[in-house]
Amino acid sequence: MRTGQDLELSHVTKRYGQTVAVRDINHVFTNGTYVCLLGPSGCGKSTTLRMIAGHETISDGSILLDGTDVSHLPPAKRGTAMMFQSYALFPHLSVRDNVAFSLRMQGQDKALRHKAANEMLELVDMIHLADRLPAQLSGGQQQRVALARALVTKPRVLLLDEPLSALDPFLRIRVRGELKRLQRELGISFIHVTHGQDEALALADECVVMNNAVIEQSGPAREVFSRPRTEFVARFMGGHNVIDLNGGRYALRADGVHFATAGLPATVRTIEYQGNHVAVTSTTGDDTEVLALIPEETFFANPKNPGDAVGLAWDEGRLHRLQA
Ligand code: ADP
Repeated sequence: MRTGQDLELSHVTKRYGQTVAVRDINHVFTNGTYVCLLGPSGCGKSTTLRMIAGHETISDGSILLDGTDVSHLPPAKRGTAMMFQSYALFPHLSVRDNVAFSLRMQGQDKALRHKAANEMLELVDMIHLADRLPAQLSGGQQQRVALARALVTKPRVLLLDEPLSALDPFLRIRVRGELKRLQRELGISFIHVTHGQDEALALADECVVMNNAVIEQSGPAREVFSRPRTEFVARFMGGHNVIDLNGGRYALRADGVHFATAGLPATVRTIEYQGNHVAVTSTTGDDTEVLALIPEETFFANPKNPGDAVGLAWDEGRLHRLQA
C-alpha cells in the first residue's frame, strides 16, 4: 500500500550530449524500504542517485516525493540526504561540528544544532569521539560521522553512493549490518548504490538491477536472485547457469545441479573448493559450461577430477525460462 511518503521516478531520463545515461525509468521506492540499486559500471546508477538528490538535473520526466514534484528543488529542500563514497568531511571541523554543519547553514542556533548533532552521534555510536578531528578517526569511524551528518537533517530518504567501498572486507560486513539496523530503527528509505551483488543480497529488501541506462528487473532480493527474468540478470546476480534446452533459454541455479548416471553427459573441467561447497565446472557435448555447487560432504563422498565424465541432473523447479 502507498503511504504517500514514497519516492517515485516517472519517465526519468538523463542525457549528457549524445550519451543517454538514464533512459525513461519508472519506479516507486516504497517508504521505509532498504533498496539496493545495482548493476555494472556505467549502467546509470550514480546518475540516478544524483538526480534523486538534486545534484544533477534531469533531462526529462519527474521525481516525486510524498506526491510532490521535487525535480527542480535544490538538494537541501527535497527531503533527501546523500552520503558520499569519499565521506567528504571537513578536515578542520570537529566531529560534532561536521555533523551540525548543515544545521548551521540553515541558521539554527548553536545549542539546538549541537543537541541534534549529539543525538545523531549517539545513534551511530560516536558520541565519545565528538570532539575529535576527522584525521584522528579510522575509516569506519569517519564513515559513521558521514552517516550522522547526512541523517541530521531528518531526511525521508537517505541516498548512499557505494558507502562501503572504502572499507576493508572485514569492516564492510560489520558496517553493512549497522546500516541495516539503522534503516530499521529510523523507518525511512535507504537507497544504496552498489556494484556488488552479495552486498545487495545481504542488505536489500528490494533490489533494482540496472543495465544500459534502464531498470532490467526489480523486486524483493530473493526473487531477483532466484527468479532472474533475463540472461543479463541471471549472469549478473551470479549463482546461475544459462542454458539452452528444447528451443528455450533457461536459468538454472548452480546449487540445484547434481551428478547422476542418467544425467546430461558432460566432462569435468575445473574443481574449486569453497568451504561449504565445491564448485565443479563441466562442459556438455555442445560445449555449454555448467557450474555445479556441490555440498562439501556430498562431493568428498564421491570426488571428481578434471577430465572425468559425469552426468548432470537437476530438479525441474531449479530451472526457469528467461525472456528472450
Ligand atoms: P554507474 O554509476 O552505474 O557506474 P553512471 O551513472 O556514473 O554509471 O554513468 C552512466 C553513463 O553516463 C556512463 O556512460 C557515463 O560515462 C555517463 N556519464 C556520467 N556522468 C557524466 C557526465 N558528467 N558527463 C558525461 N557523461 C557522464
